[in-house]
Amino acid sequence: MFVYILGAGAMGCVFGAKLSAVGWRVHLIDVNAKQIAAINEAGLQLRTDSGERNYRLPASYAADAKEKADLIIVFTKSLHTSDAIESMKHLIGDRTYVLTLQNGLGNAAKLAACVAKDHILEGVTTVPAELVSPGVVSSHGIGAVQFYPVAKEMPPITKVISSAMESAGIKAATDPEIKAAIWTKVIFNATMNATCALLDTTPGPLGGQEDGVALAKTLIEEGAMVARASGCPIDAAGIHAMAKMSMTQHRDHIPSMLQDLRGGRLTEVDDINGAIVREARAHGVSAPMHETLWRLMRVRERL
Ligand code: NAD
Repeated sequence: MFVYILGAGAMGCVFGAKLSAVGWRVHLIDVNAKQIAAINEAGLQLRTDSGERNYRLPASYAADAKEKADLIIVFTKSLHTSDAIESMKHLIGDRTYVLTLQNGLGNAAKLAACVAKDHILEGVTTVPAELVSPGVVSSHGIGAVQFYPVAKEMPPITKVISSAMESAGIKAATDPEIKAAIWTKVIFNATMNATCALLDTTPGPLGGQEDGVALAKTLIEEGAMVARASGCPIDAAGIHAMAKMSMTQHRDHIPSMLQDLRGGRLTEVDDINGAIVREARAHGVSAPMHETLWRLMRVRERL
């Protein structure tokens, strides 16, 4: 299997390294010159619970890659999905499949501008990853992948992907309820990520206050209502449990929107809270709490 990892940041590097270790030929694509140079010069350094290992993988801009891929795994932030897949057009052949495991609603639809719908796979992952410095990433703890073809028909590559990920130590499964899994993650992120980013706090202090817990509950219920209205009923109780776990067991985790704000970068809020608001409007309901967070985040991003 020859795979491009599109977006060689924290997640892209973890998946690229792990899949190369089970025999896949992996090429990393990014737009960050420092990241590309560091990986080509010193290798990709991956720190996990079992220690530190160096992986020799090629990294380049999309324009410098030539060979058509069996698979492209998209790991840019969702705000860069459209530009990123556009830059890969010359690497997409008749047999190329594209898998998105990004957060946010609508990544598969963005990919469909450049990829045939029956060659798109969408999913979610709980694999944790952090970029330590150019060329160095860490991933502590375990995680899983759920995915499914957008066109619902199961091409043989789905088995190849699941079994390679399993061999690489990532629990992977196809899931016919993938839309619900994507919505679940979006509602969780819209609740915890955006709130923590706006308050400049980690989940622990938010969960330590009655008002913080009440706010999270209301946001989850509003998100679940929009998911139902858009034809994707989800288990809100499961998201309440995820939020509680985040406020207790992952109390010191810095959510990605907060990391991005602190780093002066735009966040994925348009594809998370913003996407909930767009879905609400499209289905004749309103989501005032998520709309407020979305607009506050957009102002905060540009201050
Ligand atoms: P990241 O910011 O570390 O990496 C994204 C990479 O994409 C960067 O290296 C960036 O330079 C690159 N990029 C931007 N525009 C590009 C383009 N046009 N072409 C090619 N590359 C481009 O982000 P991440 O933490 O790896 O997250 C990737 C996705 O996975 C996001 O949707 C995120 O929400 C999701 N996710 C992250 C985690 C995590 O623990 N980090 C867990 C689950 C899901």
